[in-house]
Amino acid sequence: MLTVALGIANAQTKITPPPNKYSPADDVKLGEEAAAQVRKEMPLLNDPSVDEYVAGIGQRLVAAIPPEQRHPEFHYTFRVVNQKEINAFALPGGPMFLNRGMIEAAHNEGEVAGVMAHELSHVTLRHGTAQATKGEKFQIGAIAGQVLGAIVGGAAGSIIAQGSNLGLGAYFMKFSREYETQADVNGAQIMARAGYDPKHMSDMFRTLEAQGGSSGPEWLSDHPNPGNRYQRIDQEAKLLGVQGDRASNAEFSRVQGKLRGMSPALTASEIAQNQRRGNRPVGTANRVVNVEPPSGTFRTYQPSNALRVSVPSNWSQVDSGNNAVTYAPDGAVFQGNNGGTTFTHGIEVGVSQGTGNLQRDTNSLLRSFAESNPQLRQSGSARNESVGGRSGITVPMTNVSEVTGEPEYIALSTTQLRDGSLLYIIGVVPRAEAGTYDSAFRKIRQNLQISDR
Ligand SMILES: [Zn+2]
Repeated sequence: MLTVALGIANAQTKITPPPNKYSPADDVKLGEEAAAQVRKEMPLLNDPSVDEYVAGIGQRLVAAIPPEQRHPEFHYTFRVVNQKEINAFALPGGPMFLNRGMIEAAHNEGEVAGVMAHELSHVTLRHGTAQATKGEKFQIGAIAGQVLGAIVGGAAGSIIAQGSNLGLGAYFMKFSREYETQADVNGAQIMARAGYDPKHMSDMFRTLEAQGGSSGPEWLSDHPNPGNRYQRIDQEAKLLGVQGDRASNAEFSRVQGKLRGMSPALTASEIAQNQRRGNRPVGTANRVVNVEPPSGTFRTYQPSNALRVSVPSNWSQVDSGNNAVTYAPDGAVFQGNNGGTTFTHGIEVGVSQGTGNLQRDTNSLLRSFAESNPQLRQSGSARNESVGGRSGITVPMTNVSEVTGEPEYIALSTTQLRDGSLLYIIGVVPRAEAGTYDSAFRKIRQNLQISDR
């Protein structure tokens, strides 16, 4: 009988999962424990549209897992971590985490799918427990911190998952070269079945090497090049006879653009610092900000013909918008959640429309700030206090910083311009540092020179 080889399944390299004395349920238990720790200790991005996009790629790849590698117990999930370093990892049994830095570094959707297909293959081939079967210890950790479990394959054959504390530099599931080749080839096959060109996987590895600097990104040291990696993947792509590519690069560009517009992702050391401080990571709002205290000497700026502003000489002018200008120390200005800039220390001076009634105009300005800052609260009574030699009002307030997630002190001062509009100064500082900044804010109010007519 004549058999005609059709389709991709007959031409591809056959992959045999390595020997494994553990059960798939062991993989699931181990991975779930580690994933719970990751979710607790690492700052997940928690952006529904980004998570949805990544999960969409993931589900297409999962649907393309070969039947013999399907384990009904496994449960595949895909989450984005708000971390800058280029990395991704998948835990036994299915939970996968991609650093935001990985998505920002990719050139197209296919490259993201390539890393994910490689990671997914380590999971479906059960490489973690296979490595433990060989008697080799391997570790599950997230580079930034304390998420770390160890599997020790011993004579007793038991799995011990234990939290340990290796801290910075701990690596995540360093695989053998043999397993790397399997994950590359198996990943290429999954990609092809999902409609992606496997060449994107080798492109992504080149992208990673180019981004590496002296030591290379973490991902490459956990997934060492088994030698001829690119050639092997490209060769498999040829065997598979792949044609076309389903990657949606419009969608990829939208997601990447959104990520690049957010306040910068946290670095591994910032995450570790937050963990030491016991801060619970919440999305993007947990940056650690360290700035110099305000200098005792002052420097004068003239943001408009009618205005001279003296601020501590270690602050500089940051352009905000048409009707406002910000002065802040180095390291205190960030990209806000709504795309504009925001700052943790410093002042904003601006002009808003008024009716000629200082009290009423101050109240309506407060209401408009409260609309865009839902946590803003007045924290004491308003004081009549001169601003630039004119009668003015100062209102003390508290807010929660969108940058640090911690309470901040806000001092809003207002006075009137001759045309009836309202001139305002907003001082912002973390509540813990309010005492250090209060006298600087007062001097700025008092020394303001207004020369409108
Ligand atoms: Zn790998």
